[in-house]
Amino acid sequence: MTSRGDGPQRTDARGARRSASASAVLRAILDDGPIARSTIARRTGLSAAAVTGHAAELLHRGLLRELPGAGRRSVGRPHVPVDLDTARHVAGALHLAVHHATVALLDLRGNVLVQHEEPHDGLAAEDLLARAAEILDDLLLGHAPDREPLGLGVATGGWVDRASGTVVDHPLLDWKNVPVRDLLAESTGLAVEVDGHARALVHAERLFGHPKARESVVQLFAGNVVDAAFATGATVHHGPRSAAGAVAHLPVDDSAEPCRCGRTGCLEATVSEATLARRAGVPFPELLALATAGETAAVRMFHDRARLIGQAAALLLDVLNPAVLVVVDRSVAQVPGCLPAIRDEVRERSRGCADPAETVVPTSFPGTELATAGGAVLLDVLYDDPLGPLLSGLPRAS
Ligand SMILES: [Zn+2]
Repeated sequence: MTSRGDGPQRTDARGARRSASASAVLRAILDDGPIARSTIARRTGLSAAAVTGHAAELLHRGLLRELPGAGRRSVGRPHVPVDLDTARHVAGALHLAVHHATVALLDLRGNVLVQHEEPHDGLAAEDLLARAAEILDDLLLGHAPDREPLGLGVATGGWVDRASGTVVDHPLLDWKNVPVRDLLAESTGLAVEVDGHARALVHAERLFGHPKARESVVQLFAGNVVDAAFATGATVHHGPRSAAGAVAHLPVDDSAEPCRCGRTGCLEATVSEATLARRAGVPFPELLALATAGETAAVRMFHDRARLIGQAAALLLDVLNPAVLVVVDRSVAQVPGCLPAIRDEVRERSRGCADPAETVVPTSFPGTELATAGGAVLLDVLYDDPLGPLLSGLPRAS
């Protein structure tokens, strides 16, 4: 791959400025491509020469293409439109849920090309990660034989330390200090990035989803794991050791559900898919199917649960006042009335949220949210620093 000989100095101020302006060029093309270089210069405030230079570098790295018909002699001309080359590279994605893993491939625009769900009950961490690496290999061979893998993004719930690529604590998987990045880098030979799934989905919304997410966004994830993430501008809040967003033990009203922490009435223990399934006496997918089909008792369970999710949403809205709060939850996409129930609860409880219908929104990636979370962990790194180590063949600093 290409090298401009600036690897060791990438942390210096000039290198950082160069990375930031290349990132601005790539994002402008993501938003508005195909787009002429002269238009990119206008939109980003960069000089025409700077845009031409970055576009040439991004073309060289295979991230861009010039539009067909532009002609070979037009390379570098300011009015020839450029677009992302979505056919050349592919991002590997892995999401680790409590009962199954999702392995997927995404293109540069965050589109999920293929996704595979693998149940993993009873597998130890090392065995599960080895199995995921095999599935990824099969997907690359079967669905992207001519594409170059950019690397692998991994997302999961629980406490994930992005800097070290470690799952610090995931009680529902019973994982402690699992070096996911190092294990998968070893077995796949790819660059691997690991992050919490709520933060990953913040990156996905900011890159490919809701336009207001670029101002500020709270992501509230409700599955078996319940957690949250917050970003303002381009900064996703991690806090020391990336421990931010742990809302699992937020107390909710009117719940006596025992929690593994020893208390009762915690948010995750009350609204998790496992709790709902246990109360209904049927597996969760079956319960969701019943509610989707309109079965009254099942629908009522999801609506009651939506009000509880709304309690947490109202609190997060008042504390953080984001431009938009994104709810990731399977019932929101499938069971009519769940999103309105969350919004009603927010309307009753929140002091700061003027218009829940505008502010509380469903995920932009219904049905592919888990695959998208994994892929976004990697694609965020690429969009943040397109001239960085991902495409230079250099190892990524940890
Ligand atoms: Zn608890």
